[in-house]
Amino acid sequence: MKPMGPIPAGFKERDGELVIGSKPARALVDEAGRTPLFIYSGDLIERRISELRDAMPKKLEINYAVKANPFAPLITHMRGRVDGFDIASSGELEVVKAAGIDPESVSFAGPGKRETELEAAITFGATLNCESEREAAKSIAIGERLGIKPRIAIRVNPDFELRGSGMKMGGGAKQFGIDSERVVPLARRLIDSGVEWRGFHIYTGSQSLDADAIVETQANVLQLARKLTEEIGAKLPKLNMGGGFGIPYFHGDKPLDVRKIGAALGDEFSRLPSDYDETRFCVELGRYLVGEAGVYVTRIIERKESHGETFLITDGGLHHQLAASGNFGTVVRRNYPLANVEKFGAPVQEVASVVGCLCTPLDRLGDKVELPVCEEGDLFAIFCAGAYGASASPSAFLGQGAAGELLVLGS
Ligand SMILES: *Cc1c(COP(=O)(O)O)cnc(C)c1O
Repeated sequence: MKPMGPIPAGFKERDGELVIGSKPARALVDEAGRTPLFIYSGDLIERRISELRDAMPKKLEINYAVKANPFAPLITHMRGRVDGFDIASSGELEVVKAAGIDPESVSFAGPGKRETELEAAITFGATLNCESEREAAKSIAIGERLGIKPRIAIRVNPDFELRGSGMKMGGGAKQFGIDSERVVPLARRLIDSGVEWRGFHIYTGSQSLDADAIVETQANVLQLARKLTEEIGAKLPKLNMGGGFGIPYFHGDKPLDVRKIGAALGDEFSRLPSDYDETRFCVELGRYLVGEAGVYVTRIIERKESHGETFLITDGGLHHQLAASGNFGTVVRRNYPLANVEKFGAPVQEVASVVGCLCTPLDRLGDKVELPVCEEGDLFAIFCAGAYGASASPSAFLGQGAAGELLVLGS
């Protein structure tokens, strides 16, 4: 037997069935007419955002990193609930445009932006989080050609990182951002060239459950931003402090203590000199806002015994939920939380492995987990599927096709 992660708070049980929003998961699957199906709860996303706002200083803006889940109805649901949207491609730009998001609240990061992408973002009015001197020069030239003043911030590659984070994206040699010692001359050049100066973007890592590590990093980010601002000699309009807020996926993971982070950040803000009264501060969060609000529902096609072990073979797999299979940036594969949809909370009766339908041994969704007896035709849920699922998995692999997606509104 191997343990599984904790089932996220907010999923209810009614008559032994998993309920999402106000509806049983089975009814939602029938409505969608298909499995595999990602179901996202608009209500849980909303609750997550309001709890986070309660914990954070009022002054802090909360942005959504579209990369985590770009499903169009979900983006529309986020409009007005978060303060901004961070995108990382012109494809994501199209998504926010279609959702009617205010250009002023959109920022565009990512190395290797093509000229067509820069042009599209400048025309739209998004802020470019500039990742190199070369990109800055191209952006200035495009702005001049179009007769538009580009909004430009500098993405800084800091000399520190978010301790213990799942994916390190700052500190040392990186393809992201501009090394901090090169930021000041570039910022001066940008300001002199007449672009709209938008400050800094400092992103240091992802998926941290360690509040102390995040507190330490945010203090470092503020210190670096102040040092650079003083050297540049122009007021700081905006600071994107990055994110890194993680969610519990695995056995033993504890939810992040956001109150602790909020209190420490409040102290930091209260110590800022008055030069920063007008500065806007934001964090950019992906999985923390949506990850636990999504469930990936599959159907059991067959129960199979082999050498004394039971396999539950589903119609889903790593082509939709690469992360749950352990093949998306994890060193050791561990079990996501999972459950039989119509035997939700039922007592454990056996140990079985839940696998996908792909012809590869990598396609494991649950390894030797304790479950009630599951039969052919049963619906099976894998939790923590709201981020990096449908859009971050190789849906073309083995020709099984994409999963359905559904946003459920109402509680
Ligand atoms: C991936 C990414 C995010 C979102 O990361 P999460 O772990 O989902 O919060 C935010 N900002 C940048 C720059 C990123 O690359």
